Amino acid sequence: MFNKILVANRGEIALRVIRAAREMGVKSVAVHSTADSDAMHVRMADESVCIGPPSSQQSYLSIPAIIAACEITGAEAIHPGYGFLSENAGFVQVIEDHGLTFIGPTAEHIRIMGDKITAKDTMKKLGVPCVPGSEGGVATLDEAKKLGAEIGYPVIIKATAGGGGKGMKVAQTARDMERAFQTARAEGKSNFGNDEVYIEKYLTTPRHIEIQVFGDGKGRAVHLGERDCSLQRRHQKVFEEAPGPSISAEERARIGKVCADAMADINYIGAGTIEFLYENGEFYFIEMNTRLQVEHPVTEGIFGVDLVREQIRVASGLPMEFTQENLKINGHAIEVRLNAEKLPNFRPSPGRISQYHAPGGLGVRMDSALYDGYFIPPYYDSLIGKLIVHGRDRPEALARLGRALGELIIDGVDTTIPLFRALLEEEAVQTGAYNIHWLEHWLETNLGEA
Ligand code: ADP
Repeated sequence: MFNKILVANRGEIALRVIRAAREMGVKSVAVHSTADSDAMHVRMADESVCIGPPSSQQSYLSIPAIIAACEITGAEAIHPGYGFLSENAGFVQVIEDHGLTFIGPTAEHIRIMGDKITAKDTMKKLGVPCVPGSEGGVATLDEAKKLGAEIGYPVIIKATAGGGGKGMKVAQTARDMERAFQTARAEGKSNFGNDEVYIEKYLTTPRHIEIQVFGDGKGRAVHLGERDCSLQRRHQKVFEEAPGPSISAEERARIGKVCADAMADINYIGAGTIEFLYENGEFYFIEMNTRLQVEHPVTEGIFGVDLVREQIRVASGLPMEFTQENLKINGHAIEVRLNAEKLPNFRPSPGRISQYHAPGGLGVRMDSALYDGYFIPPYYDSLIGKLIVHGRDRPEALARLGRALGELIIDGVDTTIPLFRALLEEEAVQTGAYNIHWLEHWLETNLGEA
């Protein structure tokens, strides 16, 4: 086991990793920008190193600064959290070149899955069902129009390097194709430096179902069921739950095995998520994330496991503790993402927290780096916390969520808390009868969001 690890992240996810390390007797090093000197992850880690000015480019994304922090502190391994450098194959390469360990998959796996066309091709070969669409990239508008007619409208044009909901455009009819094609390419180029795009059938009423996988890098892999993340705004998740209200035990076992076998086949190491759209009883692969997800706690809730601990264990060379037989689902878990944003337009709302009170009690988990008097800097993502509840079943988890939201106080900035209080009043949320478009419609109707 490592003696000391460095956490190349900030906010709630940095705390998440520091907490797992502490329980394992592993020392932790926090890194931070000058804007984060007073941040909770800096206070909670055993040591901390300032790695640069507020801009992420010069701090949390600065590979030389992070490697130097390892050398100064003697940290042997780096946990990237999510976002920032977590899916950067070049970062993994540099870490290994310095004789350090990356707590995550290999550079090669990150590279394969980071390019959506290559990922889809790889998954197809591994027997994972995919959304019907182009074979590989589509280079010209003529080709795109021809494919659109073949696949049948609506279709979605996606940048192969896309992420975070960027670089995706829907063409409802042939007339939309030119605009969608050019915009997806332009977004791919400007956001990710790559204008290659591909085309998929646009599914009109799917749910977003993702399978948590975990591998030991030596040909053994398991799945930890699914998460339903269908409540989305602008292709971004806001509310996640496990198990999925629409997935039967048989379907879970079937798609879970397909995913675990695929990961065993490629000797995948660590945690990963294979994302699907699910419509009319069929799963369609869309992408794989080669890292810990924001919503991993709902899986931890129902399986009673610590995914970060397991990540650290296998990265240090210890065998995987998970076995498929021992992974049993208990109850239901829900997570809501608390963002410092002002409704109805979800504008970032940085500023000083005048009062913070976290909910507690049975089945309540609050993952947040907030504290009374904390100043939320304007430079980073607006996620300020995750409230996760666990109950014996879905109705109990929903009731608990309502109760916990009632106790939660975050004053001084605007947050998405009122959104969740309102959503809990909705019958579709209570029954789980929604697809990936439901929330967008609801926001338009109820908040008049443009
Ligand atoms: P990103 O990497 O930007 O998160 P994904 O490929 O994971 O992009 O897709 C994000 C979301 O976009 C999905 O959860 C879904 O809501 C929507 N989406 C993606 N592909 C399709 C499709 N073929 N049909 C309908 N919706 C889609």
